[in-house]
Amino acid sequence: MIKRSFFGLAKPRFEYETTDGVPGEPEKISAPGKAMFLFKGERKDAALLKTGDKIKTGQKIVLYEDSDTYVISSVTGTVSSVSPYVGDFNAPYIAVSVSVDDAEETDEQFADASKDVTLDTAKDFLAFAPGCPSLDVFSDPDRPIKTIILSCVDKDLLIATNPYVVKSYMDQINQGLSILKKITGVDHVVVISSQKMMKDASAIGGASGVELRVVGSEYPAAFPQAIMRNIMGKPLPAGGCCEDMGICFFSAEAVASVGKAFGDGQIPVTKTLTLINKNLKRVLVEARIGTPIRDIFNACDVTVSEKDRIIIGGPLTGSAVYSEDYPVMPDTDAIMIQDGEDVSLVSDYPCVNCGECVRICPAKVPVNMVVRFCEAGEYETAADEYDLYSCIECGLCSYVCTAKMPIFQHIRLAKYELCQIAAEEEETEEEEATDA
Ligand code: SF4
Ligand code: SF4
Repeated sequence: MIKRSFFGLAKPRFEYETTDGVPGEPEKISAPGKAMFLFKGERKDAALLKTGDKIKTGQKIVLYEDSDTYVISSVTGTVSSVSPYVGDFNAPYIAVSVSVDDAEETDEQFADASKDVTLDTAKDFLAFAPGCPSLDVFSDPDRPIKTIILSCVDKDLLIATNPYVVKSYMDQINQGLSILKKITGVDHVVVISSQKMMKDASAIGGASGVELRVVGSEYPAAFPQAIMRNIMGKPLPAGGCCEDMGICFFSAEAVASVGKAFGDGQIPVTKTLTLINKNLKRVLVEARIGTPIRDIFNACDVTVSEKDRIIIGGPLTGSAVYSEDYPVMPDTDAIMIQDGEDVSLVSDYPCVNCGECVRICPAKVPVNMVVRFCEAGEYETAADEYDLYSCIECGLCSYVCTAKMPIFQHIRLAKYELCQIAAEEEETEEEEATDA
């Protein structure tokens, strides 16, 4: 919900919606006829998976011998294609499509491995589980984790995914939390909840003494950076991450995934998400990871017209996708369909220096300057002189921009390009060190 000042002098405020108005029971989507899994990275020779290979539900799939990245198949079937896929900012991916069999077979590898309840087992099998549990962060000796933050709220507006998980999967959350504490050795847990969810959230951790804290209702209070500053009293430096301060974030769904996986001896493959329709009516959905979003639209009677926009994520931070073949991913918390009539077109008008973006920016970034340099491709200047890395990517500046500039997209592209440059420099340095 947006609140604007009558006189137009105060900046607009966005309040997080509650779960009120969201049906309690999710629409359960059947297993798809065809599933798709995306692997980050360029296509290489000698893939371990090829067309015609059979895969089972719960099977761990690695594409290349030397790769750390894996997906967990959510279906049983036959690989029908392995092909390049282009993501945001032209980022390369490999798309593996699977024709799904009617008869389901479950892979047993995790059932055996899960008897050994260790961090290594969790890292080896649960990175692709719903909510994407971030388990690698516990293995860095230079950044020991002292505190786990378990978030019962969603970052963006209108999303009701994590509150639903808290209401529906408390046993799995508690089991997951006690496993996480055991395998990581981290005892300090802070549960973040909205005021309305306090009663449910207070059941997390039972008697084991977790700290329960209430997040503010004004967007972007549920962002990790805002929680670090406002609740933990540890503001992040520009470009810094929570792990640098010994803190890591888990969504309620990620913790429930850990509990379900070790409790059942099976990796969960069904993602909960909020479908936000054109009239902003919301439906909770449970669909297997890899399900094309078209299947969800069909099951929920959503018609997508040519000019409508499909957004993966919430209204302020989501990314548009152009194909209904796009699959549900382990971190897809919401899918939003924006009516073509309501899509506010971006323009190529120049900045008029109205200052709206600067006034609304919660990170106090000089957005009007950052966007000039990002637009010109001068990303280093935007970072070094105009505080690009303080941006927390909340998307508010784009929403208020008088000139309708795609500021948020410019900023995300700039950060992506700088990250690519840094990776290339690191690779060159490593090659030079090897040659020396
Ligand atoms: S997205 Fe825009 S408003 Fe939000 S933190 Fe970044 S620069 Fe500021
Ligand atoms: S809101 Fe848009 S037009 Fe106004 S100063 Fe910021 S970038 Fe320029």
